[in-house]
Amino acid sequence: MSDGQKRRDVNSISICSYKKPSFGILGAGLTGLTLGYLLAQRGASVELLEKEHECGGLMRSLKEQGFTFDYGGSHIIFSKDKEALDMMTCLLGENKIKNRRNTKVLYKDRYVKYPFENGLSDLPRDENFECLYSFIQNLIAKEKGEVSSPRNLRDWFYCTFGKGIAEKYLLPYNEKIWKHPTERMSLEWVERIPNPPVQDIIRSSLGIGTEGYTHQLVFYYPRTGGIQSLIEALQERIEDRILRGFEVRAIRKENGRWVVSDGLKERVYDRVVSTIPIPELVAVLDTPKEIKDAVSRLKYNSLITVMIGLGRPKVCDLTWLYIPARDVLTHRVSFPSNYSPYVAPEGKSSILAEITCNIGDEIWRMGNEAVIERVVDDLHRLSIINKEEVCFSAVRRLKYAYVISDLEYQENMRVIKDYMQEIGIDLLGRFSEFKYLNMDGCIRNVLNYLARNSNLYQESTYGCI
Ligand SMILES: Cc1cc2nc3c(=O)[nH]c(=O)nc-3n(C[C@H](O)[C@H](O)[C@H](O)COP(=O)(O)OP(=O)(O)OC[C@H]3O[C@@H](n4cnc5c(N)ncnc54)[C@H](O)[C@@H]3O)c2cc1C
Repeated sequence: MSDGQKRRDVNSISICSYKKPSFGILGAGLTGLTLGYLLAQRGASVELLEKEHECGGLMRSLKEQGFTFDYGGSHIIFSKDKEALDMMTCLLGENKIKNRRNTKVLYKDRYVKYPFENGLSDLPRDENFECLYSFIQNLIAKEKGEVSSPRNLRDWFYCTFGKGIAEKYLLPYNEKIWKHPTERMSLEWVERIPNPPVQDIIRSSLGIGTEGYTHQLVFYYPRTGGIQSLIEALQERIEDRILRGFEVRAIRKENGRWVVSDGLKERVYDRVVSTIPIPELVAVLDTPKEIKDAVSRLKYNSLITVMIGLGRPKVCDLTWLYIPARDVLTHRVSFPSNYSPYVAPEGKSSILAEITCNIGDEIWRMGNEAVIERVVDDLHRLSIINKEEVCFSAVRRLKYAYVISDLEYQENMRVIKDYMQEIGIDLLGRFSEFKYLNMDGCIRNVLNYLARNSNLYQESTYGCI
């Protein structure tokens, strides 16, 4: 029905029943739950379909033997977006702790302050000099117009930080985490990162303290329950709207409404908002080959997390540690019991190691026991832990961890988004929009979606039946 027709109907028919469209939300991770909660708050008819028996997606936490681990990787709450941050901290209420980041990069055998460009004085003097010198050389070349605009991530690292910082840290670390060549990656992910202030690089080289990435310097973390407690705070507000164990297996349009099926049951909605990964959505829709092909070209990587409990009260004072070295399996370890002492039993502490990989590759094929053994041995060798003190270990695997924006990413996404818009399925969330979205970005996109579509749920929405 067109807007004009809607207005005509409302004006011309004296008794007009009020009809709000029903929403079916696919997936009950942070995005689905936030949207479900805010729609329900606005009086909309809404239902969430979640394939697992537990909501939360990437934000689930394992609770065993007194330890709590965020097994979708270390999650901290921070944002420049005050509204999104306020929403997260309000949901947690009293259940939160404010922390200050104390993060390092393990460069060779040294702990270098994070971000690396803010910790140059922690490097050996000649390497510190190399970083500063190539940064300044590069700056001069840029001023003279001798540096062409970067066309890929690798170029961007050289162009923004100079050869020293790029080659010592940024390239090895990024190649390790993305598991994709940086010269095949676009600037999508870095466009929002500001250039490092020159004075900060000089200060950092001289050993005068500076901080980078400052909106993450102070962060919140749930006192108890791990990051899943944020999920629980949302789900308890809309418990009756969530259908768990409902894996969306087919979606079709019938008489202008969406019919969503798990193979046994069917649910019918006026609107469908998908927060499930786009490859999973396209697999259950009858889409043209062109769309299936575009989706098959999208790149992402997967994650293995290794959770380790230690029989000592404190491992170190760090919040997390980046490890660019190729001969170490994990690229990042975090210390959850330093985020909150309540996530480990008294007198014990915890470490969470993250390993990215591609499904089916050499790392993915390692058995769980082998992954644990390798991570424990690596951390022992690096003197981060004493392996005799390990009292708990577990492994989890997640298919979708990081979106990789390669050089064809923009074009593939344009084709997919145009199609979804044409058929009327709304996409929201990290792997549905297929974007590097943190929790705040997911919440922001939900808020923007609600603002754009207020006609669908506000009292002024009329449909004549
Ligand atoms: C390693 C790592 C570390 C991170 N650290 C941080 C951090 O420190 N701070 C931060 O702000 N953000 C962080 N994030 C990002 C954060 O995890 C995401 O932004 C957020 O969890 C995305 O939520 P989502 O609901 O969009 O997606 P998801 O969590 O992926 O939820 C999608 C849901 O859909 C369900 N689903 C899938 N297929 C189907 C189907 N066929 N039928 C029904 N349901 C289905 C899934 O089970 C899941 O519950 C991190 C992410 C990773 C990978």
